[in-house]
Amino acid sequence: MVQLDYPNDGMRQLIEGYRRFFKGNPPRKGFCALHAEQIAHTQNPHSMVISCFDSRVCPEAVFATNDGHICVHRNMLNQVDAADASMMASLKFAAENLKVQNIIILGHSNCNAVAKLKELEKLPCQIASWLGGAGAAYRGDTYEEAIKNNVLDQLERLRRIDFIQEAVQKNGLNLEGMLFHINTGRLERFVSKQHRWVFITTEEECQQI
Ligand SMILES: [Zn+2]
Repeated sequence: MVQLDYPNDGMRQLIEGYRRFFKGNPPRKGFCALHAEQIAHTQNPHSMVISCFDSRVCPEAVFATNDGHICVHRNMLNQVDAADASMMASLKFAAENLKVQNIIILGHSNCNAVAKLKELEKLPCQIASWLGGAGAAYRGDTYEEAIKNNVLDQLERLRRIDFIQEAVQKNGLNLEGMLFHINTGRLERFVSKQHRWVFITTEEECQQI
């Protein structure tokens, strides 16, 4: 048994925050006037999360973060599209100016955007062109496998971006894929060195990874 791997303090905060979320204790307090003064002049987020557009997934809640802790970029399919100027600007700023410690692709169960990859031709062109535009595909024998594979595909796209590669090498930027299960509140993390998904324990304990 080994301790769950925390590659940096930001990841420790995310995982400890997740455990607080799972237990509902304490709930996220959010922005308030007392906190506002402390963060008014600067921001120093430890992580960036790329999440789906889906209203049932709220990264700030899942990781029990407060304002100023994480940057979130959301779109349908939690997609990394190098042709998306908004996404690329956010990534560049997060990696080089904010020097975040982690960038996480956060997929989720019951992702309708992944399901729709099977029938792009039936969708309005505005939606089909986004979902299929960068080459995302439904890969896997089961719905859950396809959702997980989409997270890994997006992670691979992230790794291929030149300034992200540079931040990994120079600053130790950590790239991760995670999957939030809407129906249970459980969170899985892809352990790259073992190439497998592992549920994050909901208690502080040793975990076999
Ligand atoms: Zn989704």
